Amino acid sequence: MKYDYLIVGAGLFGAVFACEVRKRGKSCLVVEKRNHIAGNVYCEDIHGIQVHKYGAHIFHTSDKEIWEYVNQFAEFNHYVNAPIARYKDELYNLPFNMNTFSRMWGIATPKEAQDIIAGQIADLNISEPKNLEEQALSLAGRDVYEKLIKGYTEKQWGRECRDLPAFIIRRLPLRFTYDNNYFNDRFQGIPIGGYTRLVERLLEGVEVRLSTDYLEHRQELDGLADRVVYTGMIDRFYNYSLGVLEYRSVRFETEELEVENYQGNAVVNYTDKEVPYTRIIEHKHFEFGKQPTTVISREYSSEWKKGDEPYYPINDEKNNGLYERYRQLAKKEERIIFGGRLGGYRYYDMDKVIAEALKVCEKEL
Ligand code: FAD
Ligand code: UDP
Repeated sequence: MKYDYLIVGAGLFGAVFACEVRKRGKSCLVVEKRNHIAGNVYCEDIHGIQVHKYGAHIFHTSDKEIWEYVNQFAEFNHYVNAPIARYKDELYNLPFNMNTFSRMWGIATPKEAQDIIAGQIADLNISEPKNLEEQALSLAGRDVYEKLIKGYTEKQWGRECRDLPAFIIRRLPLRFTYDNNYFNDRFQGIPIGGYTRLVERLLEGVEVRLSTDYLEHRQELDGLADRVVYTGMIDRFYNYSLGVLEYRSVRFETEELEVENYQGNAVVNYTDKEVPYTRIIEHKHFEFGKQPTTVISREYSSEWKKGDEPYYPINDEKNNGLYERYRQLAKKEERIIFGGRLGGYRYYDMDKVIAEALKVCEKEL
């Protein structure tokens, strides 16, 4: 065998694994089906602006070890995510906090906000929220639900809030303080120079073959290494033999504009259902860019079909059940390790993917 490990996928999972393998004096080959490294955190330089090609990525974590780990490969700036929500002509701060409530109701104190929310849901008697609608109503009241949650969520998921699981909305903080930080984590920032450079550093000294789909060259590639680390879609690995795992996809409409500053913020969510896109990202603001032009991406959420780019796993009962059956198959594999967001059919933030890669590597080596 030519290598100790064949790593399928040059995203964060694959790159961290490769870096650790190399550090421990083992050899590996990384194969990547796209024509670039970095997976979904890939950034393309457009006139000095790092454009997040597969969706905006903000690094945030409460795990000090992971923060120190990534800081070996990049310097992070002091960006703090504080999106704006636009509902028709009204602008609100996100996540839901005292700035949002005071703009919505013309009030000033937490008590006033809490009383309004309690009054708006008093007659609903929700003790245990059964779906996203009940969860959102019980947390933030009817006005916030109607203006800032319902339209956005139904556009993003293509389903009624009543038919979505409650946990999706629990990802967002809700606070009765004047704090627009979208995350509660202790550490946050954007790697200066972009994520692609960070992944390049992880892959320093590692052999990478781009535009190579492992599943299309399996026989040849399997002969090159003892062990395989696979970070692609688990159902595709098994040729969809048990069925197809569903995703939501996203279409990005990206354009460069001859203005210096288009929307004054990196992220503006469009929360009413009349606007067809969910949000507009203005990439330069992630790095406090001063370039003369700007690049924006409108995000359209779309139904996913086989062959489309998979973005958000649909972790409902049906799909989780199917994934579990694939996982049972995967457990029986002796020389293949499944990892990452596609291998695990989970929405993992970057810090979790890195932590998982380090853990698996530790166990393996
Ligand atoms: P990927 O980045 O998908 O890498 C897998 C790689 O494997 C891909 O490059 C793929 O082309 C390759 N591959 C697949 N199959 C094969 C094959 N058969 N042969 C060869 N190569 C193959 N996380 C955050 O922490 N903060 C954020 O703000 C954030 N924003 C996000 C926004 C969106 C829209 C999405 C979808 C995710 C976001 N995430 C965010 C999550 C983040 O993208 C993931 O945690 C991370 O990219 C996962 O890395 P990965 O290596 O598991 O997967
Ligand atoms: N959400 C919302 N309004 C917003 C932003 C988010 O209702 O303006 C809800 C929506 O249901 C979304 C969930 O909160 O799916 C999680 O949002 P997050 O920003 O974490 O989504 P992501 O950035 O992963 O697309």
